[in-house]
Amino acid sequence: MKKNKASILLFHRVYPVRDVMWDPMDPKRFENILKFVKKNYTVLPLLEILDTKPASVKKPLAAITFDDGYRDYIEYSLPIMDRLKIASSIYVVTDCISKNKPTWTFEVDYLFFNTNKLQIDWTIDTSFLPDDCRKDKFINKQELIAFCLKFKQYIKKIPEEKRRILLQNLLRSFNDVTIPSDLMMSWKEVKQIINAGVEVGSHTVTHPPLATLSKVDLDKELQESKAEFFNNTGINTRVISYPVGSYNQQVKEASLLAGYDFGLAVNHTIHDVNNGDAFEIPRIELYNEPFWKSWLRIKQYR
Ligand SMILES: [Zn+2]
Repeated sequence: MKKNKASILLFHRVYPVRDVMWDPMDPKRFENILKFVKKNYTVLPLLEILDTKPASVKKPLAAITFDDGYRDYIEYSLPIMDRLKIASSIYVVTDCISKNKPTWTFEVDYLFFNTNKLQIDWTIDTSFLPDDCRKDKFINKQELIAFCLKFKQYIKKIPEEKRRILLQNLLRSFNDVTIPSDLMMSWKEVKQIINAGVEVGSHTVTHPPLATLSKVDLDKELQESKAEFFNNTGINTRVISYPVGSYNQQVKEASLLAGYDFGLAVNHTIHDVNNGDAFEIPRIELYNEPFWKSWLRIKQYR
């Protein structure tokens, strides 16, 4: 029997202004990708694929997903998808929606890129940091940005308390930067897109890499985001999208116990509809790059 496959695509921001640190997908590129997907795949809402496991008769299956909850989803992505009659789902960070602030991963990029300082004032004991993440003076902006890329990879893997302390230090040190406050959707907008037929789910409370958390913090992120989501929308979300694709066996089990039906990863593989693990649903992330590169990712030609 032929295996039933679904390519589940992951986007974040779709926006026409370029950003050196974390480049959003250009709307024209986004539209070209979706036209390609519509032509070659049967595009369905993700939950429909996961719940009903439909047979892919003529074309393979595909679903379109978004993480984080940026408002540009409403401004740029939705109009394009509406025009092409393509369904999508989006997973929001509940604290970011409630407090109208971007994710910490966005904040780190934004701080390093926008500060005029070439120095980090470490006001904490940095002896636990590896040598290349402990620097405090930089010759130029390039060096600072190169440091940021290394630093970001490092802090995704450390325990939550340490990450929080380091982020607070960065915010204090780069106090010449104001983090933008109008980038995320409001709960009102989340409700509007739900009413318009978009599937919305949880992407935790504060966007931590879940595999780095203690059991207590892990349960808190899973349960409180579900509760906050319900309080604001009246909907019991069934899907958790793991921030920065971070999960392990403990995360999968805790997600099931917290009442989720599905956990979304970022494993850059095609989902096996009938036999895939419900708490390890793979997604293929796409970036703002020439179409042929996105095409290779979607087809999983390596
Ligand atoms: Zn995210």
